[in-house]
Amino acid sequence: MLHSWYPVQNFTVDEIAVERDSRFLQPAWEFIKNGNEHILASPLFPPFYALSIDYIWVAVFTFIDLVLCDVTIFKNAKIQKDRKVTWSLMKKSFHLQIWNQLLWIYPMALVQLIWVPDTELPVLAPTVFEFCSQIVIFFVAFDFSYFWFHYFNHRIKFLYRWCHSVHHMYSSPFAASAQHLHPFELFFVATFITAFPWVFPTHCLTYWVWFLIAQSVSYEVHIGYDFPFALHRIFWFYSGAPAHDMHHLRPLTCFQPWLNYLDRIMGYHITYEDLKRMSAEKFKRFGLYDKNDVADLEKIN
Ligand SMILES: [Zn+2]
Ligand SMILES: [Zn+2]
Repeated sequence: MLHSWYPVQNFTVDEIAVERDSRFLQPAWEFIKNGNEHILASPLFPPFYALSIDYIWVAVFTFIDLVLCDVTIFKNAKIQKDRKVTWSLMKKSFHLQIWNQLLWIYPMALVQLIWVPDTELPVLAPTVFEFCSQIVIFFVAFDFSYFWFHYFNHRIKFLYRWCHSVHHMYSSPFAASAQHLHPFELFFVATFITAFPWVFPTHCLTYWVWFLIAQSVSYEVHIGYDFPFALHRIFWFYSGAPAHDMHHLRPLTCFQPWLNYLDRIMGYHITYEDLKRMSAEKFKRFGLYDKNDVADLEKIN
């Protein structure tokens, strides 16, 4: 039944002409295609496109972290206010990422040239229903599968030590740290983002927009800023940067990468307010005196 979402190949010439005039995304699709067919159809286009999204996100937020961090909007939005993102902190991550790209990503892209055929660029754009429903399915499916991959990477000690601990070298994330991954985790993430659309006869436009969304959301949860316009403020079921920041700060919480329903069901979803409340309770019961209680008292050591 799912294949009926994408019935282009069954259309007659007359039907295609009718569909062409009625599809909402058709003008955008033709604008994108116009004159760019040889670039878009190349097997090198998807990796080039995906890497461009990476580089743009990293460049923008590296500039913000290093140059604009004291501008009010960024200062106020910074989640872990006591932690500054510095170049020396970033350098280590870039070092690993350059090796990941040279050893794995670029060779994989070149291998595509040999065995992946040119992308077929259909005459028709996808319908809005096909486009939106497929992206929602890919989003939910990736989020669900990464949750379990992530959960077991934290629960099975050898997996954590061997693989996922690399990503947790940073307890205060920044955009570039989204790709600070062990090659095995990089392979898993790339495979699932790429392969879910293969379940359906996915239009290449849907595929490219899915890539843009998946990568952008992965960066957004790592930026370390909670902006007033952040998506999680509108959609309560979306984790956003605060939840994933919490995961880096307290690695046995907030496992779900993008949504939060599984964390809520399993009791792993906690917020900074919860953390503050818990430490306040702990301090009250077992901890130190309040600053005001010990002001002016003499202390030897
Ligand atoms: Zn992370
Ligand atoms: Zn983790």
